[in-house]
Amino acid sequence: MKDTAKHQGLRNQLAAILAQKGITDKNVLEAIKKIPRHLFLNSSFEDYAYQDKAFPIGAGQTISQPYTVAFQSQLLEIQKDHKILEIGTGSGYQTAVLFMMGAKVYSVERQNELFKTTSVLLPKLGIRPKHLSFGDGYKGLPNHAPFDSIIVTAGAPIIPKPLMAQLKIGGRLVIPLGEEHQIMTMLIRKNETQFEKHEFGEFRFVPLLENKN
Ligand code: SAH
Repeated sequence: MKDTAKHQGLRNQLAAILAQKGITDKNVLEAIKKIPRHLFLNSSFEDYAYQDKAFPIGAGQTISQPYTVAFQSQLLEIQKDHKILEIGTGSGYQTAVLFMMGAKVYSVERQNELFKTTSVLLPKLGIRPKHLSFGDGYKGLPNHAPFDSIIVTAGAPIIPKPLMAQLKIGGRLVIPLGEEHQIMTMLIRKNETQFEKHEFGEFRFVPLLENKN
């Protein structure tokens, strides 16, 4: 598949729709305009790739809806060279958006098939996360901690303690919390022991799985 002027036009429209829906961070909208979302999907979805919808990406998983990607990215308040941990690499689309916003991205995926495909795809598109890892995101990446911010892109029944521990003071953990549907939740680390909690309404994600296949 190629990236054409038609795709660029559809991306500009998508960014305009996300702005209408309340996304105000210019860096997020610029990244949405730049990342060729159709190349993160099977070619049979090419005509739909710039709709504001989630689609299947194999292994029973989905690429997040662009609004959700933009909303979570905006909450992170990314500054250039921020070290960001993503749990749930999936298609790599969210990884690419964070990279395009200037972040040093570390990402973990527990489905080997997706980990392999995405590890090959991202460099082909010129997207170079600092580290892609195959494993259980509940544990975070202790060897690379601490992180400026952490984003979880699957619905989590609880906030994994290791992720809280791997956050810098002042850092943000953005995590959709809940089983059937999720409340977008952000923890800001105030000091060694205290976290300030903010909630941002309902979203839908595939589950964050632990010790299950
Ligand atoms: N950011 C991805 C979203 C993919 S859906 C994208 O934009 O495409 C959520 C992803 O989280 C899935 O790929 C799923 O396999 C992964 N996941 C679920 N539980 C996980 C865990 N415990 N550790 C790491 N990844 C996990």
